[in-house]
Amino acid sequence: MLSQKMLELGKKSSVIREIFEYGRVRKAEIGVENVFDFSLGNPSVPAPQKVTDVMNRLIAETPAEVLHGYTSGPGDLKVRTAIAENIKTKFQVEATPGLIYMTCGAAASLTIALNAIAEEGDEVIAFAPFFPEYRVFVEQSGAKFVPVSCKNDDLQIDFDLLEKSITPNTKAVIINSPNNPSGVIVPEKDVIKLAALLNEKQKEYGKEIFLISDEPYRELVFTGEKVAYIPAYYDNSFVCYSYSKALSLPGERIGYIFVSPTMKDSSDVFAAVCGAGRALGYVCAPSLMQYTISECLNNTADVSVYEENRKILYEGLTDIGYTVIKPDGAFYMFVKSLEEDAYKFYERAKKFELLLVPSDDFGCPGFVRLAYCVDTDLIKRSLNAFKELYEDYKND
Ligand code: PLP
Repeated sequence: MLSQKMLELGKKSSVIREIFEYGRVRKAEIGVENVFDFSLGNPSVPAPQKVTDVMNRLIAETPAEVLHGYTSGPGDLKVRTAIAENIKTKFQVEATPGLIYMTCGAAASLTIALNAIAEEGDEVIAFAPFFPEYRVFVEQSGAKFVPVSCKNDDLQIDFDLLEKSITPNTKAVIINSPNNPSGVIVPEKDVIKLAALLNEKQKEYGKEIFLISDEPYRELVFTGEKVAYIPAYYDNSFVCYSYSKALSLPGERIGYIFVSPTMKDSSDVFAAVCGAGRALGYVCAPSLMQYTISECLNNTADVSVYEENRKILYEGLTDIGYTVIKPDGAFYMFVKSLEEDAYKFYERAKKFELLLVPSDDFGCPGFVRLAYCVDTDLIKRSLNAFKELYEDYKND
């Protein structure tokens, strides 16, 4: 007998993956250039040259037993020290290598952090729209997933709803800014308000409520807006960081968890992080990648390409008549579906070779997500298909 829960998870792949697979088949049938595939958040910009140079040098110069050997469970101490120093310099907060745990990307960071803190009966809040895997990660930790809708017009935090959703069982709140799928950035004033509300609720219930900042898109910002660094605003915070998008290294699986030193009993929390990493088999993140990123902490992939894509797509779609939530960062755009059921809209868009992701799995029906980390030329050529789709609806 198998675990029915795992069997179900394995059989039911995410809708994004399903669309991506459909796209793969369709591209083979009619040619890659004829499918406008906006399904997957796979960075289209190459990793900075520095990453390649550092990797080449490390491969050439590092003794094999170090290069390909295990590091300590939470990661190489020199790497964690470099990251801690970098956090201190960039964000003016305290950081120590003893509270940094190297991971295989943000997915692992989140799973470990959640498993470190959550128990049966706990509740974990995420703002909708949310990255669909949050539900899987939270439920796997034993906690109940509690989505809290954002305001429908700008997809910012609805504080009234949030306050009503916090209960004595709330163990954590996940914040993701810039956001996947909307590209929205939570403004500093809202982060301050969120911290104040959580502090108030901690006092009221006499317990810790953790704030988990999932930030693979921290560096992908186009408006010059400051993305608040959560540990500077709230004591009981975790940062779940990843180099997948900022350095365009999603396949290399590298990131980290930072436990804020201001967290209550931070060394015990870190011990629980190490325990969760151990229990889940997430020890010794890839050595070569740990060493590589430690020398590239101030580098970022060329995000100007995404900025240009965003401009062309936003202006093109709004000119046609679509309602678009203007993204401040990441490489996603949330567009209002032209009919109530976004899944039907997605199906109709397919007739024009447009692959868009219906928003239901993001916990926010009535939209589609466009991942615009694609070739700029494809975006330009896609606008005609978007126009045809729009007119098709008008002719109903
Ligand atoms: N969190 C969000 C919001 C994401 O969009 C993603 C990936 O797309 C992840 C976490 C997982 O990232 P990683 O590749 O670092 O595991």
